[in-house]
Amino acid sequence: MKQSDVAKIVAAIGILAVAAFLVSRSFRSDPADEETTWRICGNADCRNEFSYTRAQARQAARENKEIACPKCGSTESAIAYVCEQCKRLTLAGVHASIPKACSHCKAPFPLPK
Ligand SMILES: [Zn+2]
Ligand SMILES: [Zn+2]
Repeated sequence: MKQSDVAKIVAAIGILAVAAFLVSRSFRSDPADEETTWRICGNADCRNEFSYTRAQARQAARENKEIACPKCGSTESAIAYVCEQCKRLTLAGVHASIPKACSHCKAPFPLPK
């Protein structure tokens, strides 16, 4: 192999490394990662309301962990949706479906724009 060929291969590897770095960086800053999910703790003595981002959920899945209540540590929590009108949480329906209306102020979900 000629010296110039080696230089070309080294340059190609360098470009690939930079490309991989850029792709992984843009993947990390995916706006969907900032999407938050709300949950209400299933522990009757706790009922804590907490949220986490999609990035945190993925991190937990990677570590084979379930999303736990930050207050009592229970993993028995239920998905809930925030009411845009009163900002309170309503538990999701079956299969985490969006509820038809807020259980507090009765505003329809999603709130018409
Ligand atoms: Zn809890
Ligand atoms: Zn409401």
